[in-house]
Amino acid sequence: MAHARVLLVDDSADTRHFLADVLRPAGYDVLTAASGEEGFTLARDLLPDLIIADHQMPGQTGLDMLAALREQDIRLPFILITAQGSEELAARALRLGVGDYLIKPFDVGDLIKATKRVLAEHWQRQIQENVPVRLLQANIELEGRLRELDTLVQIGQRVTGVLDLQTVLREAAQAAVTLAQAEEGSLLLVDPLSGELYLYASTDAELMKAPFRLPVADSLAGRVVRTGESLIITGEDLQTIKPGHTFRALAYVPLVLKGDVIGVLGVTNHTANARFHPHVIQLLSVIADFAAIAIENARLYTRTERERSTLDAILRDTEDTIIVVDAVDNVLFCNPAARKTFDVNILDYRGKPLDEVINHQEVIELFAKQARAGRSRSSEIKIDDGKRVLNAQLTIVEGVGRVVVMQDITHLKELDRIKSDFVTTVSHDLRGPLTAILSYVELINRSGPLNDSQQDFIKRIKFSVQSITALISDLLELGKIEAGFDQDREPTSLRRIVRYAVEGQRHQWEKKQQHVKVRLPEIVPSVLGNPLRLRQLVNNLVENAVKYTPDGGTVTIMAESDGEFLILRVIDTGIGIPQKDQPYIFDKFYRTDQAIDHYQGTGLGLSIVKSIVDQHNGRIWVESEVGKGTTFTVMLPVYDGDAGGDAGDTEA
Ligand code: ADP
Repeated sequence: MAHARVLLVDDSADTRHFLADVLRPAGYDVLTAASGEEGFTLARDLLPDLIIADHQMPGQTGLDMLAALREQDIRLPFILITAQGSEELAARALRLGVGDYLIKPFDVGDLIKATKRVLAEHWQRQIQENVPVRLLQANIELEGRLRELDTLVQIGQRVTGVLDLQTVLREAAQAAVTLAQAEEGSLLLVDPLSGELYLYASTDAELMKAPFRLPVADSLAGRVVRTGESLIITGEDLQTIKPGHTFRALAYVPLVLKGDVIGVLGVTNHTANARFHPHVIQLLSVIADFAAIAIENARLYTRTERERSTLDAILRDTEDTIIVVDAVDNVLFCNPAARKTFDVNILDYRGKPLDEVINHQEVIELFAKQARAGRSRSSEIKIDDGKRVLNAQLTIVEGVGRVVVMQDITHLKELDRIKSDFVTTVSHDLRGPLTAILSYVELINRSGPLNDSQQDFIKRIKFSVQSITALISDLLELGKIEAGFDQDREPTSLRRIVRYAVEGQRHQWEKKQQHVKVRLPEIVPSVLGNPLRLRQLVNNLVENAVKYTPDGGTVTIMAESDGEFLILRVIDTGIGIPQKDQPYIFDKFYRTDQAIDHYQGTGLGLSIVKSIVDQHNGRIWVESEVGKGTTFTVMLPVYDGDAGGDAGDTEA
């Protein structure tokens, strides 16, 4: 804190110096004057915190000087020093408001004490006189701010709580009027089609009966839209800017949404002569921000509603069966097709557990299996005692739960069955004539000597007949697998099957000088399956790997288990399968161009593999890169309660 300034007035230079030497070490700034007149001038011009003056001075006495200051309405704390005290002098000093009165010779300590006390009393008085007024003012201002804040908070709450935009914006206009202490408030929005401003909400009900439009190019509100800047104008200015205006004062702020001005919030005074304080712009800007949020909310809400009703219509009208459950398997939604298919009669099915709403074991199992496996799953669901078949895909929807969509594939199944029956019958019937052809070809050989080209023709006929026979065998196999004839299941060791496949084709891979590696874990869990079919599965994959891998390449067969599934991989370093062909290679007769041109085959091997995998509730997929190689991965459920196999990695 700055030091208090003391003005010493005494005609004696010794006294002045002496007193200054006493006061300065005590922490006071000291000014001095040698006469009453000089003291008066310094006191008037510099307004010290305290005057210590001698009374007996030639010319103006100490009290005369004080009286002169009082006349000028300058009231400074005052200590009078006198050589001769008298009652009369004391009375006059009291009248003039002297703070203390010291008679010479006085003790230095008394002077310091008097100085401190008079200053303290003076400051105390100052506080008592001034602080309440200031406090009151601050209080009034604070109350005003609180009211403003209150209004802003309220309008903020309305923006998030009320969905009717007209209501929210009318309240925003009303809040603007309250805060700006204006007569009228309105909210204009820019029409995106015409580019004009139109009145959307106003505190003036009459105005709302016939809402007006304003051109953006030639209006004050339009100026706010064009420039993006607020406007605050009084009546006189208005007359010069826009003659004929009836406003006394106006304040406009822009409504900004994502960087674009989409409207204007304004308050006006028609009759009152009150101009708006610049602070009003700040308040209106906050309300304008709220209004812009309300408009954005309303737009989003309308869009979401529209999308929701479109989705509703799609879900309602689709023939697919759709069921949605939440994270704890309570039903959130069943479309009409689902309710019809599964006889959902209860109206308030929402929120009920899935197994209470859907009385169908296969559906419940599908959900349970998916939950265990943790990934999307598909399955066939039979309904109406197996008369209808649905293909169900169950997927996880983040933040919602799970959704199952089922398509009726009854007619596809039927078509497939008819086609398979047909193929089986035809294949079967072809076998007889083919056997006859082959027998007669053999007989030709024995019936007499043949020349070289006849021998060659016969070889070709035999080769073609063998190809057709292989094709027919494959077709018949496929027919049998698809018909599900061999349902016998037993715990089967994959270790032995892999070994058979590798050894069975030793001749082929040795001829091509390929490396065949078998990498199996210590324990290969058994699979509950049909050993014949599982052998066919592994055989086909290894056969393909050897066939489609050039001489000197590598084929690796490896297995691992995660406890639930046995994962078998057949990896080769062969020609690979182009990306575009990969989705189709499990289809019947599908072969890649390279295979057609250079390799013998029926295009049925992988269809057989896929059917076997399906029959064993497994999955199969391919990863491949042209020129680098191919990996087929098969997942088969392990047979629990058994662990199989003997030791270690083997290399062939
Ligand atoms: P194919 O009798 O032609 O081998 P598959 O049904 O076994 O018939 O296989 C279908 C097609 O998939 C093959 O014609 C070939 O184009 C491709 N393919 C299968 N396995 C492999 C592999 N390991 N490497 C490259 N292509 C393969």
